[in-house]
Amino acid sequence: MSKKLYENDPYKKSFKAKVISVSNNNGKFYVKLDKTYFYPEGGGQPSDKGFIDDIKVIDVFKQDEEIIHVLDQNISEGKTVKCKINWKRRYDLMQQHTGQHLLSAVLKNDYDLNTVGFTLSEESLRIDLDKKISKQKINEVEDKVNTLIQKGIDIEIDFPDEKELKSLSLRKDPTVSENIRIIKIKGIDNSPCGGTHLKNTSELGLLKINDISNYKGGLRIDFVCGNRALDDYNKKNNTILKLKDILSTPEDTIINEVINLMDRLDDYKNIANELNEKLLKYIAKDLINEATKIGNIKVITNIYNNFSYSNVQYLSDIICENNNNIVIFGQHDNSSARLLLAKSNNIDKLQMNEIINEPLQLINGSGGGTIDKAQGGGDYINNLDTAVERSFEIIMSKLK
Ligand SMILES: [Zn+2]
Repeated sequence: MSKKLYENDPYKKSFKAKVISVSNNNGKFYVKLDKTYFYPEGGGQPSDKGFIDDIKVIDVFKQDEEIIHVLDQNISEGKTVKCKINWKRRYDLMQQHTGQHLLSAVLKNDYDLNTVGFTLSEESLRIDLDKKISKQKINEVEDKVNTLIQKGIDIEIDFPDEKELKSLSLRKDPTVSENIRIIKIKGIDNSPCGGTHLKNTSELGLLKINDISNYKGGLRIDFVCGNRALDDYNKKNNTILKLKDILSTPEDTIINEVINLMDRLDDYKNIANELNEKLLKYIAKDLINEATKIGNIKVITNIYNNFSYSNVQYLSDIICENNNNIVIFGQHDNSSARLLLAKSNNIDKLQMNEIINEPLQLINGSGGGTIDKAQGGGDYINNLDTAVERSFEIIMSKLK
């Protein structure tokens, strides 16, 4: 069984070890070492990454009581190897994980709230609480946690014997029955945990709660700690600086400026809609004047590719509001074609929902509608002309 040295010394970044066994699992190499400081995934904390003799360690996991290092290249059994943990990543995870202990401890000690869920990854850090708490209280919690960070409280790793364990007040029950490892934030928290943690709260630097949301009757808290909090601050500061620049406004008036812009945008949209309606009415008039006439019936045919389909539909509606008009419209963009057949409801010889079926097949389309208005779409864009022509032929033959 390989010795799990990370349990007592989570600050070791590189070490030498002996390869005990290697097995090939679908091109990935499962390596056991006589001892390891690589942390295997568990207890909500992701596994370490790094290198063994310059070969990438892509995953580390526990199998029974063994630690398996997953490598993307083979390595010799019996060899003494140089191991290097991706320290930037590991330290980040230690900062987030320790921050979680401290936050959960304050919530339990001062507000009697239990942490019932914990997510830690390279991108996200969150806990779920069993009950809700106000935004105001959350701000108070954040202040308390940061005060404890600034106090620089020691954090110890302990493997207490049974008697000692009974005397400890634990924040939660252990998930294992022997070799129970307790992380002690002195005077604040005793929590059973197998993960890697900092040795003093001062190394957390800062804990910032970014968001709270209701979750399963309780509360979900998204937060960041340490260097991750600083990166987050930089990112947000850059966003503010860009917004200041784009809007030419000081930081404290950005929100008002955006609200004003949204209001103006609504006004412009209303004006644009009114103008669009007026324009379409003029276009409809022109189309009616240029229509093919059969007795008193006017047949209007057109294909659009620079017009939205909603405009095409609106145009058809305006034309068919008047008596004796028939519309055959095609519309397409780069990926799809649409066909629209419509008529004024005083024309009773035609059933548009039947007429459309044959031309729709030409554009590999499907659709439907009513006697007065039918439409459908397909993807044979190049056949749209033919589909419009065929619609015209069918309609003409039925009108004669
Ligand atoms: Zn922990």
